[in-house]
Amino acid sequence: MSAAATPSGGEAGSRRGTTARSPRRLPPARLRAAAINQLLAQLYPQPQTALQHANPLQLLIATILSAQCTDERVNRVTPQLFARYRTAQDFAQADLTELEALIRPTGYYRNKARLIRDCCAELVARHGGTVPRTLEELVRLPGIGRKTANVVLGDAFGVPGITVDTHVKRLARRLGLTRHTDPVKIEYALMKLLPPAEWTRFSHRLILHGRTVCHARKPRCEVCLLASLCPKIGVMTSKNRRPPPRRLQQS
Ligand code: SF4
Repeated sequence: MSAAATPSGGEAGSRRGTTARSPRRLPPARLRAAAINQLLAQLYPQPQTALQHANPLQLLIATILSAQCTDERVNRVTPQLFARYRTAQDFAQADLTELEALIRPTGYYRNKARLIRDCCAELVARHGGTVPRTLEELVRLPGIGRKTANVVLGDAFGVPGITVDTHVKRLARRLGLTRHTDPVKIEYALMKLLPPAEWTRFSHRLILHGRTVCHARKPRCEVCLLASLCPKIGVMTSKNRRPPPRRLQQS
């Protein structure tokens, strides 16, 4: 898919990179994205998914399990899961009750078990049991959205893609790289700002920075390497600051 297909309207342009909150003049979004990526590369030089896997199928399953669940918890269940089911055919023929029991600690285990079985049945029926290498084919599988597809493409096949999870969404907006809230529009907006070779690493870096520094509720702006480039530095501090007490009017 071409970056030129970016949805129009409302995008962070060169002057929109700075917001009314910030009196500072910041570089245009494209220059800032490159600088942000360089700074993050110092912290996270070779980022990759924390989901343990040995092949594309295992990464696909682990990514399905990671919905509403931490990677650590997924990594605790996948060794037994992948020892029990080795191929897409194995998952497609799995007994649902047994599969549910194995993945239960990841939450929403009934939905996830059904999704895994249906997805693998489609893999067997349409792709000979192998995981396809294109976004278009991946998102046609049951339960597979663009986020999961981009994780699999980037980490299993080395195909560039921007993964927009909750961290990427939050950081891209705070850093003034987009004003969009829709994940697909954010994905396209970020694709415009960086070369394809950086897409996968950049989204991993944003995810790691979101997990370690730019937390949703308490961003650690005081130690953030991106502070000089961030229009929302101190965003939560000012947001949470109580208004000064009203003084009684003197009559
Ligand atoms: S300066 Fe603060 S809001 Fe901006 S990216 Fe860093 S932690 Fe997040």
